[in-house]
Amino acid sequence: MTVWEKYVRKVTPYVPGEQPDNKNIVKLNTNENPYPPSPFVKKAMEGINDEQLRLYPDPKASLLVKAIAKHYGLKEEQIFPGVGSDDVLAMCFLTFFQSEKPIFFPDITYSFYEVWANLYRIPYEKKPLGENFQICPKDYLGENGGIIFPNPNAPTGLFLPLKEVEEIVEKNRDVIVIVDEAYIDFGSQTALPLLERYDNLLVVHTFSKSRAMAGARIGFAMGDTKLIQYLNDVKFSFNSYTLGLPSLIAGARAIEDNGYFLEITEKIKNTREWTKRELRKLGFSFPDSMGNFVFASHEKYRAEDIFVYLKEKNIYVRHFQQPRVDNYLRMTIGTKEQMERFLDCLAQFIR
Ligand code: PMP
Repeated sequence: MTVWEKYVRKVTPYVPGEQPDNKNIVKLNTNENPYPPSPFVKKAMEGINDEQLRLYPDPKASLLVKAIAKHYGLKEEQIFPGVGSDDVLAMCFLTFFQSEKPIFFPDITYSFYEVWANLYRIPYEKKPLGENFQICPKDYLGENGGIIFPNPNAPTGLFLPLKEVEEIVEKNRDVIVIVDEAYIDFGSQTALPLLERYDNLLVVHTFSKSRAMAGARIGFAMGDTKLIQYLNDVKFSFNSYTLGLPSLIAGARAIEDNGYFLEITEKIKNTREWTKRELRKLGFSFPDSMGNFVFASHEKYRAEDIFVYLKEKNIYVRHFQQPRVDNYLRMTIGTKEQMERFLDCLAQFIR
């Protein structure tokens, strides 16, 4: 080992799902939305001029912040935007998880949490999910340096009722509790109403899933003005210009088109429920997902074998090599036509 290597920050990075070049695949591996973004977005993108690219963007991202605040009935000072919710969550870890006590998150969850904890040298404790993969609020009541969990959880899709979310927030008034609501718009209850009562709560959303804009990289945190101020202090000590102007415009236009948002999320929910029924008929079982994905395992066939077979047929789903869930596949809900092709393929394998 060369001497300088001793001084390198060594980390094990997060491994994102594949983004293959092949246009002919049915891509159900990264929970993207199968529909295009709102037509308002395309129109706005066509109007972007040289000046808007030549200049630095507004470091406060006001255009987007205003649109988000208006949509959710919050103050602008309660919104912190970033380059996808990954960027926002990473900033939250850096800003709020400075205690010597461990932060808590579920053992089966979004695997980036552990990566950020390691990156920032934050001590952590993973809380095992219950027998049916549920988050158990009582596990989150011990002394800790902060809490984060997704609701619905990923990759299980299971939703924790608002009362239980509130119990966790309420019994942890000394630390920051982050509820990562990346998949909330597909049919569960947001923790946003709790913001009025709890200044230790942050709710994080993304444009990547329900607003069909993973490519624009937009996420945001909502919380008490004091928390948002602390986040901004850290952000402005790191990178002033996070979101580019095209993303600011695209995000603002997308959030204004609520009719389209409701239409595509409704379609995905319907396709999800239909897919669940079809998967059951094929012998799969799964937690009752409220996300835009289903996390399923088969009574007779190994997940890994199904994964390989589907891939050969140009259908990509996600398989995690992790104890307790390595016999599960996470399948994003695509269009009805994509799910038909996927289910036909599954039926051929199982036959
Ligand atoms: N949280 C959860 C639970 C996720 O599954 C994802 C998507 N991989 C993210 C956050 C990050 O999404 P994005 O950075 O695209 O907003």
